[in-house]
Amino acid sequence: MTDPMLALRLEKEGQPSRLMEVPHPGAPAGDEVLVRMRAVSLNHIDLFGQRGMAFAQRQAFPLTAGVEAAGEVEAVGPDVRTVRPGQAVVVHPALFCGDCRWCNRGRENLCENVGGIAGFHVDGFACHYVKAAERRVVPVPEGVSLRDAACTTVTFGTVQHMLFDNAKLEPGETILVQAGGSGIGTTAIKMAKAIGATVITTVGSDDKVEKAKAIGADHVINYREERFETRVRRLTGKKGVQVVFEHVGADTWAGSLLALERGGRLVTCGSTSGINANTNLYQVFQQQLTIIGSFGSSLRNLREALDKMATGLTPVIDSEIDLTEFGLALERLQSRQVFGKIVATIS
Ligand SMILES: [Zn+2]
Repeated sequence: MTDPMLALRLEKEGQPSRLMEVPHPGAPAGDEVLVRMRAVSLNHIDLFGQRGMAFAQRQAFPLTAGVEAAGEVEAVGPDVRTVRPGQAVVVHPALFCGDCRWCNRGRENLCENVGGIAGFHVDGFACHYVKAAERRVVPVPEGVSLRDAACTTVTFGTVQHMLFDNAKLEPGETILVQAGGSGIGTTAIKMAKAIGATVITTVGSDDKVEKAKAIGADHVINYREERFETRVRRLTGKKGVQVVFEHVGADTWAGSLLALERGGRLVTCGSTSGINANTNLYQVFQQQLTIIGSFGSSLRNLREALDKMATGLTPVIDSEIDLTEFGLALERLQSRQVFGKIVATIS
C-alpha cells in the first residue's frame, strides 16, 4: 500500500500544476489518519497558490495542490478514536495546533501556531493519499456525496462562518451577495434564503441572472448593465441592505459600502478583483457601519455545513471534471465562466 502515488504538483511559482508520481505518505502512526482522497474542488485560492503570493511568505514550492477535498479513511493510527476505516471524511485545510487560546475556544481559523494551509503553504489534497492529525478530520454524515462534501472546508465552511458567526444574519433581513454565480456566492444565496432572508445578488451575464433566480435569489442585478448600488437603494426604498457579503474587492468595495443601510454590516473574505480599494471613512463612522474580515472556518463550521448538506442544502455544482483537467478548469474559474463549484474526481 505504499507504492508511489499520483499527485497534482505545483513545481514553480507561476507555472501550471501537473500530475506526477510522488512518494506515498506511509502508514499512519499515533493520532494520524490516512485518507484516500476522492474529490477535490477548485477555489480562487488555487489560482493565488499557483501564481505565488507576496503575503504567503511560507509558501514553498514544490507542493501538492488542492485546498478543499473529501475522501475515505484508509487506515488509522493506534491512538485514533473518532473515525474508522471506510468512513467518509473531510480534512480541515489549516494545520492548526489544537492547543492555543483560540483553538481551545473553537476558533481554529485564528490559531496562533498555525503551520500553514494545505494546498497553499504545504502539500494539499489533490492526490491519492493524505495523512492528517485526527483533530483536522471531520466525518461526513450519511447521505452526503463525496462530490458535495468536497465543497465543505473552504466554500460551505467559509460562508457559514461569514453569514452566521460574523455578520449574524437574521431571518427577515436583506442581504446583498456579490458575485452570486461563484462557489461561495451560490452558497451564500442558498444559506441566506434557507433562514428566511431576502437576497439581492449581482452577476456578470444574463444567463447567470436566470440561474441565480433558479437557486432562490429574490433580485438579480447584472452589474455589467447597471450600477448595483443604485438598484439596491431602489429595491430597499432608499434605505440600503442590512448585510453585504463581499469577496470581489477593488471593483465593488465602494458600491458595497454605499449599498448598506445605517448600522449595516459588511463581511468580506476575499478580493478577487484586487486588494486595494478606497474607503470613505466619513461614510463608515457617520453611517455607523461594521466591516468584518473573515478567513476560513472553525471545525464547528464544518460540522454545521455538513449537517446542512445532509438536510438537502447542497452545493451548486457547475461541473465535474477529472483531475487531469484541473489546470484548464482553473482558467475557466479565473475568467468567471462558471456557476457554482467545479469538482474534480480523483480516480
Ligand atoms: Zn492553535
